[in-house]
Amino acid sequence: MTVNCLFCKIVSREIAAQIVFEDDKIIAINDINPAAPVHILIIPKEHIASLAEISEQHNDLLGHIQLTAARLAKDLKISEQGYRLVNNCGIWGGQTVLHLHYHLLGGRELSWPPG
Ligand code: 5GP
Ligand code: ZN
Repeated sequence: MTVNCLFCKIVSREIAAQIVFEDDKIIAINDINPAAPVHILIIPKEHIASLAEISEQHNDLLGHIQLTAARLAKDLKISEQGYRLVNNCGIWGGQTVLHLHYHLLGGRELSWPPG
């Protein structure tokens, strides 16, 4: 747990969130400002600042996040039409919360390329 980290506080229940899924490694919550009908944040419980901070030891965790994203997409019935799994890394990547997380977006047609 890192002091003053928003997502660490959500993991520890210090700040409330709508939890969609949780296990020992990750938590998935609804984004407070959804950009699509389905907008879930998949967050590792361990504080990792960004994708730029990962190493070999996070291999299983990253695989687990992707498998969970695919399963949640199926459960939420957005899998057949398609969806997007996004990581914003660093300032130019648009990252605003410095605790690693992936956005699962779906439920509408998404445009490409991003801005
Ligand atoms: P980033 O810009 O770092 O990739 O994504 C951060 C995301 O966290 C944004 O989509 C933002 O709406 C979301 N967010 C910010 N504060 C909160 C909060 O207190 N609760 C929830 N559930 N989401 C938040
Ligand atoms: Zn954190």
